Amino acid sequence: PFEVSRALSRVQPSATIAATQKARELKAKGIDVISLGAGEPDFDTPDHIKEAAIEAIRRGETKYTAVDGIPELKEAICAKFKRDNQLEYKPSQVNVSPGGKPVIYNAFAATLNPGDEVIVPAPYWVSYPDMALLCGGTPVFAEATAKDGYKLRPEALEVAITPRTKWLVLNSPSNPTGAAYSADDLKALAEVLERHPHVWILTDDMYEHLVYDGFKFATIAEVAPSLYDRTLTMNGMSKSYAMTGWRIGYAAGPEPLIKAMAKVMTQTTSNPCSISQWASVAGLNGQHDFLKPRNEAFMRRRDLVLRHIAASDGLDAPTPEGAFYVFASCAGLIGKTSGKGKALKTDGDVCDALLEEAHVAVVPGTAFGSGPAFRISYATSDEALEKAGTRIAEFCSSAR
Ligand code: PLP
Repeated sequence: PFEVSRALSRVQPSATIAATQKARELKAKGIDVISLGAGEPDFDTPDHIKEAAIEAIRRGETKYTAVDGIPELKEAICAKFKRDNQLEYKPSQVNVSPGGKPVIYNAFAATLNPGDEVIVPAPYWVSYPDMALLCGGTPVFAEATAKDGYKLRPEALEVAITPRTKWLVLNSPSNPTGAAYSADDLKALAEVLERHPHVWILTDDMYEHLVYDGFKFATIAEVAPSLYDRTLTMNGMSKSYAMTGWRIGYAAGPEPLIKAMAKVMTQTTSNPCSISQWASVAGLNGQHDFLKPRNEAFMRRRDLVLRHIAASDGLDAPTPEGAFYVFASCAGLIGKTSGKGKALKTDGDVCDALLEEAHVAVVPGTAFGSGPAFRISYATSDEALEKAGTRIAEFCSSAR
């Protein structure tokens, strides 16, 4: 009989994909479901990036490339890190992978031994612990509370570190909470890390450009140069450039780590798509005017969602600094019964009832390691969000 590997049996299927699937099934039955589950910008890839891809196809850039990225893209990435983050990297310190997810996977595959621990602040993006497990590592969760704006406190980091800690994963702005660490927040964490030289830092900066209210983005190798030699600074094209389907992620860090990651790629994916790499060169080196109006739209939508949350009995959420998610506590609904009679014992019950009764799809917080809560993705139209917000508020007021 068919059996999956022990490594795979420890892994959960993605909860965000499961929530999106449930919504799709109801939609197929003709029900007007508003899906706030997916973590994908609703904007299209900017035209100058598409044109560069078409041009690359015409030029015949259709062959295998250097395994961890073409020199032109590595140069553009070095220039980006210098321009945006005041970080000096050489092309030999840069990895380009087929998406942000594979960057992280390649880093874990290249470094983790059985029993090695990966500290993952919770709430966390669903893939960190499962990728660590797939690579034989052990995720260790460090709680970040709503009271602290879902940002890891230095004391919580300190107690999570053991002699077996290999990596700390930082993600700012965060999926699922939108929380972002200021330079001072990062310096406080860096002070702890400076006392533990065996811990490496993987910082996932995917949502760097999606910040609001004038928030100033910072990344840990920039604010704590003492950690430069053990930090992998990761980023990608998917979110900021609305290029989820193109599959380009990248990272920069110490050369031996970058070499090891390339070795993983030589025997697995080989190079990321040649055409997407040329499109990314144009994206990184080109104009970034498209970001401002898009961020204005995202911020307006964030505020719209927060207004509806504030008007909903039993819900509460801190104001996120970035990304396109609101992480709402639903502690005030637990123990109640929904309008149509479903007992709301967990955040999973709340999300099921919201979908079945209010026809709004969101993802339970426990899937991100923190609950009772749910994640709302606001990367959708103002009209859909307005309608969903009203439905959520009605759902809450009908719970008893
Ligand atoms: N990191 C975070 C925090 C994300 O939210 C995502 C996408 O959901 C990724 C990485 C993965 O990006 P990619 O689609 O480039 O693999």
